[in-house]
Amino acid sequence: MHEASIAQSILDIVLETALKNGARTVRVVNLLVGKISAVDNSALTTAFDVIKEGTIADSAILNIENIPIVGKCNDCGNLDEYEEYFFQCKKCRSFNVELISGEELSIKDIEVD
Ligand SMILES: [Zn+2]
Repeated sequence: MHEASIAQSILDIVLETALKNGARTVRVVNLLVGKISAVDNSALTTAFDVIKEGTIADSAILNIENIPIVGKCNDCGNLDEYEEYFFQCKKCRSFNVELISGEELSIKDIEVD
């Protein structure tokens, strides 16, 4: 269950950041999750809700922003959205496609009191 370990590392970073900033409560955690990381949003939220209990983030809301997989063709310049990490240009059929976004798995920011 890879969402549980992701939730744990998110919580660790959130708590460390909150402490450094003298926060008393963490209200919102904004996450960027690229589609390549294959994270299940609801499994991640559930895992986070379990482990946040008893911490200063125990009422924190996890906001997940999913980032689409975007590739750019180096042959014809076509920029397109893809469903998985397998790139064949939808225009010219070239495999020379470069990943532009979709690998993200990071905390965008947190809101604290
Ligand atoms: Zn192309």
